[in-house]
Amino acid sequence: MARKFIDCREFPSEMNCTVAIAADSEGELLEAAVQHAVSVHKHEDTPELRAMLKSIFHDGTAPMEQPGRAA
Ligand SMILES: [Zn+2]
Repeated sequence: MARKFIDCREFPSEMNCTVAIAADSEGELLEAAVQHAVSVHKHEDTPELRAMLKSIFHDGTAPMEQPGRAA
């Protein structure tokens, strides 16, 4: 199953949130993302919020900044 993630840095917000969330299914990821948006960003859990979150889902895992890590 394809891993999916959402990176809050892409989410329109004023708080410079840098959280990334990953899950093995879109449903799980959406639930986690909605909970994060509601609890941290004080969004309302609406169909519009869910659609916006889904629009910034990506395949794979969140890129990590690993300075100096050579292959
Ligand atoms: Zn956030």
